[in-house]
Amino acid sequence: MGSRTRISHGVPLAPMTTLGLGGLASVLVDLQDSADFPEFVELARACPGDPVCLGSGSNVLVSDLGCDSPVLRLNNRGLRIGPRDTDGRVLVEVQAGHLLTDLVETAIAEGLSGMEMLVGIPGTVGATPIQNVGAYGQEVSDTLVEVRAWDWALGRHVTLGARECGLGHRNSVIKRSRRWTLLSLVFALYRSALSTPVTYRAVADVLGVRVGGRVPLAEAADAVFTVRRRKGMVIGCSETDRRSVGSVFLSPEVSPADAERLRARDAPVSSFPDGSTRVSASWLIQQAGFELNSTIVDGVRISSLHYTLVADEGASAAAFRDAIEIVLQRVLRCSGVRLTPEIDFLGTWRPAGGLGAPV
Ligand SMILES: Cc1cc2nc3c(=O)[nH]c(=O)nc-3n(C[C@H](O)[C@H](O)[C@H](O)COP(=O)(O)OP(=O)(O)OC[C@H]3O[C@@H](n4cnc5c(N)ncnc54)[C@H](O)[C@@H]3O)c2cc1C
Repeated sequence: MGSRTRISHGVPLAPMTTLGLGGLASVLVDLQDSADFPEFVELARACPGDPVCLGSGSNVLVSDLGCDSPVLRLNNRGLRIGPRDTDGRVLVEVQAGHLLTDLVETAIAEGLSGMEMLVGIPGTVGATPIQNVGAYGQEVSDTLVEVRAWDWALGRHVTLGARECGLGHRNSVIKRSRRWTLLSLVFALYRSALSTPVTYRAVADVLGVRVGGRVPLAEAADAVFTVRRRKGMVIGCSETDRRSVGSVFLSPEVSPADAERLRARDAPVSSFPDGSTRVSASWLIQQAGFELNSTIVDGVRISSLHYTLVADEGASAAAFRDAIEIVLQRVLRCSGVRLTPEIDFLGTWRPAGGLGAPV
């Protein structure tokens, strides 16, 4: 392996995730430079199971039994601001292990618009297309041009255009497929001192502008950050609700008739660029009678700031999974809507309840 690549055996994965749960990785490879990636391919071929990629671990639940497949941790960082495309947008090439927060900060400092609303979202840039990361009116699908990846099915490097990534609402063809390892990505951003239109009422209220208004990039980002902090959706902003994966569930899609009915009940119903209309999963959890800060199972409770699950001292991955099932079943009973987990279940899991057997 390249001199900067580290291979370790029997490594605890919990500290590498924001939930702080899960067992050991049989083999963990820390990759600092994508030029060394072919050597990981050789190693992975000699190991059992499909290789698993881990970014910042902010959207995964690792099994207590750990992970027998080789785990690749991408730490390749760096970005290059390049030429303009035919639409006049500035192309930015970013290494997969670069942090999204650092990319957003650079874009704002460089006067590049299109990512300012993604401020405060934890994780690596390489993970962003996996679930088409988005918040407050912007999604990665708005700016992604292409990804450069290793295709484990074809056994070679490939370039996938944004369209081929099949980006939908918190979804893509890459999600949970284990077929591709993303190594670098290209985004196209507009040179502009102003943000894209502010589409969320809560953000517009903090800014004191009308919905649809545009404001300086840094002001938009500050306002989004303020709204996110209130909900505990910024890592480290709350001492008590620290161990989180953000939203555990996807916001379910609703029909136009149901959307109308739900809006009449003041439910947060939003339309997304993939054409879907969705009701907030947090609202459904609240409507099912769960209270903020209430314990679901030992070590797992509803956050004190937002209707999502967080882990405390004494939690296990199995308990967190049980809590997911309890929330899912009660929401189903109360509203007839089946929630789907947004997060990825990594490692070896015993078959369990209604969630189906994760990989
Ligand atoms: C407090 C908090 C707030 C959040 N807010 C938001 C939000 O507003 N919007 C939003 O969309 N998400 C949000 N998230 C979820 C999370 O931040 C994103 O999903 C993020 O993209 C995950 O990045 P990561 O590097 O931590 O990925 P990980 O959690 O390490 O991995 C997530 C998935 O991507 C795969 N993966 C990671 N890197 C690669 C790669 N290079 N190639 C192939 N597969 C890869 C993993 O195998 C896994 O399946 C939030 C999470 C937290 C904890």
